[in-house]
Amino acid sequence: MSATSFRRTKIIVTLGPATESEEMLEKLIRAGADIIRLNMAHAKHDWTRGIIRRIRAVSTKVGREVAIMMDIKGPEIRTGDVSAPIELKEGEIFDFTVRPGMSAERGGGGEEIRSVDVNYQDLVNDIKVGDTVLVDNGLLRLEVLEKNDARIRCRVLIPGELKSRRHINLPGVKVNLPSFTEKDRGDSIVGLEEGIDFLALSFVRQAKDIELLRAFLAERKSRVRIIAKIEDRSAIENLGEIVDACDGLMVARGDLGIECPFEELPVIQRRAVRTCLSRGRPVIVATHMLESMIAQPVPTRAEITDVANAVFELADCVMLSGETTIGKYPLECVQMLDTIARRIELEADDEWSAPAVFTGERMKVLHSAVVLANELPRSKLVTFTRHGFMAQGLALLRPSHAPILAFTPSVDVLRHLRLLRAVEPYLMRLASDPNETIESALAILRREGRIAPGDKIVIATDIVAQDRLVDSVQLRTVR
Ligand code: PEP
Repeated sequence: MSATSFRRTKIIVTLGPATESEEMLEKLIRAGADIIRLNMAHAKHDWTRGIIRRIRAVSTKVGREVAIMMDIKGPEIRTGDVSAPIELKEGEIFDFTVRPGMSAERGGGGEEIRSVDVNYQDLVNDIKVGDTVLVDNGLLRLEVLEKNDARIRCRVLIPGELKSRRHINLPGVKVNLPSFTEKDRGDSIVGLEEGIDFLALSFVRQAKDIELLRAFLAERKSRVRIIAKIEDRSAIENLGEIVDACDGLMVARGDLGIECPFEELPVIQRRAVRTCLSRGRPVIVATHMLESMIAQPVPTRAEITDVANAVFELADCVMLSGETTIGKYPLECVQMLDTIARRIELEADDEWSAPAVFTGERMKVLHSAVVLANELPRSKLVTFTRHGFMAQGLALLRPSHAPILAFTPSVDVLRHLRLLRAVEPYLMRLASDPNETIESALAILRREGRIAPGDKIVIATDIVAQDRLVDSVQLRTVR
């Protein structure tokens, strides 16, 4: 079976040393990257400003405007610096200190108890005896034995090497850190100044976290869209309200797989994608999609199946992280996602197609457009969208085979549309005469070889009738 002429599932590429050059960016954009992600856990402001400008310049050169997502790290706990890596042994007693510069202590048997600082003073209040401390993405596991106001004392359960500034996870512990930190604020301001399109907020725990960020954006009159990264158990408990509050959700499987029992991860992914589909929000499946391709040119069979599952589940986007930040084969990774997605999208799987039932009249009009397009072979949906609403509405309804060819006069909206499944955005001035607008759009699509004689075009747009905007659906056949 041949692959489709377009890919519905969007690809997000995280930028890093392996991909930051102009040449590589150009290759990635030409290969079909839709959104470029900047992970602020590792980025300095000078680099960030420079890279955003470079992405914009390369997009212009290639003639394909990609979106930029800044991923801010949120309430993250890290260990401090160590002068040399500490080799933690199984059963060893080890301290995490919240008052920097504490001198080494001796245990009951007279042995020296080694320690490392932690960047979060309230850790001693949030954690209790018996809790688990995971360090460096879960590679090291410790159990809390006792605590005082300056340190927590642990026993090493899973040994390994502790290096400087390692990420700490505390599964099941309700951490009292602010959801939007001073660092996040500083990073976001740089992003807004440079014109990013999406802000991904890490470790969202409740809708209120998103509302705080939305207020910050509103104060600055920013139209940047908020992506809520769900990464721990609180987020799962509050999934519905988080989905309602955000503009898009990221299933951040890296941290989720540490914070939750690993066998829960596929269940959480499915639930999160379905919740987004039923509540009308775009959704991203992220992390470890092609992890083995960091070092090898081909993925494992399991990775291919994992990517396919995200496509079967009807996620809007799949995301690359380490594969493209430090990996040896970043371009091949994008090509691999492209190939897998195109093939899997040919498989209609009704089990998954249970998109939202919307009560608003406008969504019902869009629904009728999608029903019409689904019933016509070789159909294409065309829409004109000033704020992206029409295109997003059509995308949420998951048309079975028609692409959504969305025309907008706004480059900001065009970039926001990069997030949405099956939407191909085009930049075009909208004329006051609707017929002229439709003809111009069809001319562009003909020129780009996107439509051919005999194709059925289902147009969803608002038209002016007696001085009022009326939502309408039209059917035309390309001559
Ligand atoms: C994740 O944990 O899966 C994730 C995407 O977040 P980060 O890369 O910021 O850890």
